Amino acid sequence: MSDDTAQKHSRGLSRRRLMQGAAAAGVAAWIPFEQIPAAQAALPTPPSFPGGIPLFQQSYKNWSGAIAVDGVWTCTPSNPAQVVTLANWARANGWRLRAKGSSHNWSPLSLAVDGSDAAKVVLVDTKTNLTAISVDTATSRVRVQTGATMLAMMTALENSGLGLTASPAPGDLTVGGVLAIDGHGTAVPKTGETKPAGHTYGSISNLVQQITAVVWNAATSSYVLKTYNRNDVEAGALMAHVGRSFITEVVLQAGANQRLRCQSWFNVPATELFANSTSGRTFSSYLNSAGRVEAIWFPFTSNPWLKVWSVAPSKPLLSRQVNSPYNYTFSDNLPQSIFDLSAQIVSSNPANTPSFGDLNYNIVAAGLVTTLTYDIWGWSKNLLLYVRPSTLRVTANGYAILCKRADVQRVIQEFTFRYSTRLNDYRNQGKYPMNGPVEIRVTGLDKPGDVGATRSPQMSALRPRPDHPEWDCAVWLDILTLPGTPYADVFYAEMEQWIYSNYSSYADVRPEWSKGWGYTASGAWTSTPVIDTTVPNTFRTGYPVNDNWDSARAMLDILDPARVFSSAFVDRLLL
Ligand SMILES: Cc1cc2nc3c(=O)[nH]c(=O)nc-3n(C[C@H](O)[C@H](O)[C@H](O)COP(=O)(O)OP(=O)(O)OC[C@H]3O[C@@H](n4cnc5c(N)ncnc54)[C@H](O)[C@@H]3O)c2cc1C
Repeated sequence: MSDDTAQKHSRGLSRRRLMQGAAAAGVAAWIPFEQIPAAQAALPTPPSFPGGIPLFQQSYKNWSGAIAVDGVWTCTPSNPAQVVTLANWARANGWRLRAKGSSHNWSPLSLAVDGSDAAKVVLVDTKTNLTAISVDTATSRVRVQTGATMLAMMTALENSGLGLTASPAPGDLTVGGVLAIDGHGTAVPKTGETKPAGHTYGSISNLVQQITAVVWNAATSSYVLKTYNRNDVEAGALMAHVGRSFITEVVLQAGANQRLRCQSWFNVPATELFANSTSGRTFSSYLNSAGRVEAIWFPFTSNPWLKVWSVAPSKPLLSRQVNSPYNYTFSDNLPQSIFDLSAQIVSSNPANTPSFGDLNYNIVAAGLVTTLTYDIWGWSKNLLLYVRPSTLRVTANGYAILCKRADVQRVIQEFTFRYSTRLNDYRNQGKYPMNGPVEIRVTGLDKPGDVGATRSPQMSALRPRPDHPEWDCAVWLDILTLPGTPYADVFYAEMEQWIYSNYSSYADVRPEWSKGWGYTASGAWTSTPVIDTTVPNTFRTGYPVNDNWDSARAMLDILDPARVFSSAFVDRLLL
């Protein structure tokens, strides 16, 4: 077969984390937890809770399993007006609300890692009822309630001949959850590509044309529903609010749907793909030829899984047509051997990590061939959505490195070299902190002009820097590992410090809100300098004082002065 076709803690491990890790590694299905109706709950019900809104206690567990809290009050309003009723109830009674989508977020935006901020909180489930979607083909826009899933929204778009250029890989995330954290996929224009109308190479937040939130009305001293247009000052803070608001509905811009081809490659060594070179099969060369690239590199293996999407109006001869998403079934239905090995790595035998990397590599390499998915073609949604929740549960750090397109290869080369060098240093000490892959994607920035607007999502990691117009893209860097892996937090902290210091001379570093960042040896989201100084500063530098991090925070306070929509961590970040 040709190359083209056959791609072929330092802190010790606490018992709690060990159990979390083993459980996370061993459970393959994502099952909603049992609901205990308020009338049967052991705890007293929230006082004067509004009638007619189903209320129950339910365990909260995020996707990675690292945040697990029993018996959290949860309710299912049937429409946006009921969310307003809830907000006014919460304010009057000193309770808080938090929107609950699919609970896939890693960072503690909804509940603290130890559950310590779950008292006097009602989670507001959006997925049950706030799911209406309607497409306006005249404007190529979709009006969508925020509990709708990305799959449902993208299916509705597809049915109207519309689509997105890039999206987060899972389809079961809610639109509200994705907008809160400026969800992204992977896409920049290939060499010579003209952006089709209505599309963006930035985040989903950059598609907002209208946004409806539950906000405080000073004139009536009550929370109300209010709709803002994209260029309204309030929209700047709401389009990527990091968990500090409640959005009920948005109108998103879309464009003509495209057919995409996705080719997977396993024959390009990391040494070539990530080389400090302007020739050969570098990551940048694939960006130039196709614009849409993802590299997944399992630890201690030599060849990454390289996915290259290209716009292909008609089916290439060798491609296989796909008519639905989630085509890499081998990574969503992993064999028991993976779960067995991952549990061993976390609990007793970390030296199995290189074998684990090999096993993962082999499953993908074989899976691509046996499922005939090394070269697939179809409507964009079927190529852009490729992760199911049943994939191996891992935790991840995440950063967006804003830089010049010409520096993308340098960013990647420096990162991968540092990562592999340190991983080998740790191995020489008998430590294996990282057992999941490195994932690398590249997107454009949130240029408001992409959708005919002038205002940017102020807290989006992809917000362009006006003082650095040459920074026109972002390299997204993630390293994945099983929850509870010994020395992971030390390694993550070390990599983070290196990332901040290495890129400061020619790029900017932003956290990926949904993932791990702000590391110390005590874990993610614990570094005082990163949370209080480094991160806010990247959203201050270069922006006018009336349109920066502080003005976004102040606006979110005006819109919710009682801080009904916040959590301990969001308070810490945005107070
Ligand atoms: C396996 C996996 C793969 C992923 N891949 C990607 C990827 O490719 N690209 C990417 O960008 N991200 C990715 N993510 C991260 C994901 O996009 C975010 O965690 C997202 O927030 C999850 O959406 P959710 O519906 O689960 O939100 P939840 O986890 O339920 O909520 C996350 C935050 O959003 C807030 N929120 C939810 N709905 C609303 C609303 N209506 N109004 C206001 N706030 C709201 C919540 O209060 C909370 O603060 C991935 C996550 C997982 C687990």
